[in-house]
Amino acid sequence: LIALRDLHLSFADTRVLRGIDLDVQRGQAVSIIGPSGSGKSTLLRCITGLLRPQRGQIRVGDTAVHELRSDAEFIALRKRVGFVFQQYNLFPHLSVLENLTIAPCKVLGRERREAQDEARRLLGKVRLEHKEHAYPGELSGGQQQRVAIARALAMRPELILFDEVTSALDPETVGEVLRTIRELIEEGMTCVLVTHEMRFAEEISDAVYFTEHGVIVEHGSPRQLFNEPRSPRTRAFLQHAL
Ligand code: ATP
Ligand code: MG
Repeated sequence: LIALRDLHLSFADTRVLRGIDLDVQRGQAVSIIGPSGSGKSTLLRCITGLLRPQRGQIRVGDTAVHELRSDAEFIALRKRVGFVFQQYNLFPHLSVLENLTIAPCKVLGRERREAQDEARRLLGKVRLEHKEHAYPGELSGGQQQRVAIARALAMRPELILFDEVTSALDPETVGEVLRTIRELIEEGMTCVLVTHEMRFAEEISDAVYFTEHGVIVEHGSPRQLFNEPRSPRTRAFLQHAL
């Protein structure tokens, strides 16, 4: 579903991505781990078309993202790719239910009633059905993050990218967000996760990529990468991270 080939991206004279290759099949969960500043968020932003690499190819399904030009083409891509960030970015002045229905109504042209029914179903899925009238400021960080996940799902994306979605949370609410993500993966949602939760990545991933300084140092099955890393760089990183 996703294929990245030889991606290169620089900001001014900082080379952030230096030849990235990565593949995600439909229904897979793929985790990306690596030190701060290694280019993980930049990589995800390339997949959604928010950043354009100077060189390389990005395919999402049949779409050659690196060749897109018009706003309409980028909007069409973003309807298919859900993105959940560390900062949940909910609309503070809208209720939980409105946060979930605004884009389906405005962007996808859904009927309000239909969008609300779907939003309630999704709130049930993230175990927040009792919060539909609450405002984001009245929720815990973990609850807000689950609303953000439900909001991404409300667009019925083909895949979801998660960028360190638990890093800003209190330890006691991390688990409820990871549980929600695990359930999505079990249902077959294609997911790419940038995460510092190594045990979680090991448990739920079909493949794990380790990045450093804008290159993929190695990738493999979670069992292989976490237990028998081939590269001394990966080994050194895991010693600190685990
Ligand atoms: P972290 O784990 O801290 O989130 P990361 O692996 O996600 O790190 P990126 O956010 O992709 O790293 O950043 C990679 C490098 O690119 C960093 O050195 C960062 O300073 C630089 N960078 C990111 N965005 C920009 C930008 N818009 N302009 C200039 N430099 C940027
Ligand atoms: Mg990042």
